[in-house]
Amino acid sequence: MADDRKYKFSWELLGDIATGRPNLGNKTNLEVYRLLLFTFRDVLESHVGTEMTDRIFYEAGNLSGKEFYANKLTPTNDLGEFVRELQQVLKDMGIGILRLEQADVEAGEFVLTVSEDLDCSGLPELDHEVCVYDEGFIAALLESFSGMKFKVKEIDCWCTGDRTCRFSAKAVKAEP
Ligand SMILES: [Zn+2]
Repeated sequence: MADDRKYKFSWELLGDIATGRPNLGNKTNLEVYRLLLFTFRDVLESHVGTEMTDRIFYEAGNLSGKEFYANKLTPTNDLGEFVRELQQVLKDMGIGILRLEQADVEAGEFVLTVSEDLDCSGLPELDHEVCVYDEGFIAALLESFSGMKFKVKEIDCWCTGDRTCRFSAKAVKAEP
């Protein structure tokens, strides 16, 4: 399977932006990013249904988080250091403002918030959370940091009337 893939991700695919966009540089309009995101979601849903679309977005976010950790963060065993660097990089890249609200390291349970979130901040109110991609992204970051598998669920979202996105992250314990 691996060799006949046309679209297998690698960080190099993001390209040499300094060379490729000498005038426009490393910035775009956020509407363009959201246009891509929400048109993809629309077309995927019409082809494979809502549940599979969410699964694809979660998995894509997960792949993104794994690659992001490997390419943008410094490996560490210290939770404080990990969170501090992550906060800085997410802010510098304009992804969002991260806070670790609760942490129970022993139980592997965390609550994180992302304000001014790239995907959803400012969207109209809907009756459901929309940041499924972020869920997978955060899960992968925690997985890469801790070596444990995580399940992440968004519990508050701009789209459900909150002014920040809040994520519950729980380590998936191996079945006894
Ligand atoms: Zn959200």
